[in-house]
Amino acid sequence: PTGEPSGNLVRTSDAYTPGKAGTARIPATLLALVRNEELAGMLQSMEDLERTWNSKFNYPWTFFNDVPFTEEFKRKTKAATKAECRYEVIPKEHWEKPSWINDDLFAESVKILEENDIQYASMLSYHQMCRWNSGLFYKHPALADIQYYWRVEPKVHFFCDVDYDVFRYMQDHNKTYGFTISLYDAPQSIPSLWPETTKFISEHPEYLHENRAEGWLTDRTRRPVHNEMANGYSTCHFWTNFEIADMNFWRSQVYEDYFNHLDRAGGFFYERWGDAPVHSIALGLFEDKNKIHWFRDIGYQHIPFFNCPNSPKCRGCVTGRLTDGEKWLNKEDCRPNWFKYAHMD
Ligand code: GDP
Ligand code: MN
Repeated sequence: PTGEPSGNLVRTSDAYTPGKAGTARIPATLLALVRNEELAGMLQSMEDLERTWNSKFNYPWTFFNDVPFTEEFKRKTKAATKAECRYEVIPKEHWEKPSWINDDLFAESVKILEENDIQYASMLSYHQMCRWNSGLFYKHPALADIQYYWRVEPKVHFFCDVDYDVFRYMQDHNKTYGFTISLYDAPQSIPSLWPETTKFISEHPEYLHENRAEGWLTDRTRRPVHNEMANGYSTCHFWTNFEIADMNFWRSQVYEDYFNHLDRAGGFFYERWGDAPVHSIALGLFEDKNKIHWFRDIGYQHIPFFNCPNSPKCRGCVTGRLTDGEKWLNKEDCRPNWFKYAHMD
């Protein structure tokens, strides 16, 4: 199979031979932050991922919520998999707006974000969700013995049969992070993210990885839609509603210091920093670019974007199509930028 989701990206297929039978199980989980009201969407995502992949490997599901899961949620999700299901409530100190965030300033900031048409700007819970996904989920005690996770949202689709253990692939190939889709972001949601990042780097120049993909973050290629940089950042990011990653990176001192710096700066509330640009900037600066993997073979959709490989293993999506939404959305794709800097061949 040689899927080419986007025009001229040419790469040989990465056929992978699974590790020897009998080797120790990888400490990994499927991980979903989800609301009780999203049960139907969660069942749909589970159905797809179980059919295409997890029914062959039976990794446990770990569900997180800021309130307890209902009995119905537990019963129906349990029935959707042979694997173990875990239901976890997020500790208040990981979810609540931190004490140093000023309510008046937050209210003022929301107005400005709304004037700039930033989606969900006025939803406090969305800001909390982005912050938790950026720097807190991997600190939950239920994940203490887990190293790798595959993040799954409600209402996503998986289209292709995947016959190898992706977590074992991550481990055997020493990968930190895997993605399927990458996109530009709205610069108005993150105006001070890059300035805060450069401040952090000047305090910790030793944290920069010698084989980093920094050029990808600062690439000034003219953008077709949001024709602006975000004060030095291209806004190109891995789309984190899908991510397969090694939590040891988030648990490192480098990332801990970076997240704390950002958290104190307040941009999760005064702006609408997403976990996607935050994770992506950290990976682009503090990790070896060779440890970041494009899962070209995992067919995926989160409305309105797809990763749809050209392969007989895939059903239900149109090869190479990025979106079935409005045409301009095609221009949001920035995967070619990543390939340009990642030297993936
Ligand atoms: P979008 O993908 O940016 O449009 O945002 P979503 O509404 O899909 O939210 C991202 C993820 O966080 C999804 O898995 C949601 O189920 C989850 N999520 C968002 N807000 C909350 C919340 O307040 N509580 C819980 N438990 N989950 C949330
Ligand atoms: Mn979503």
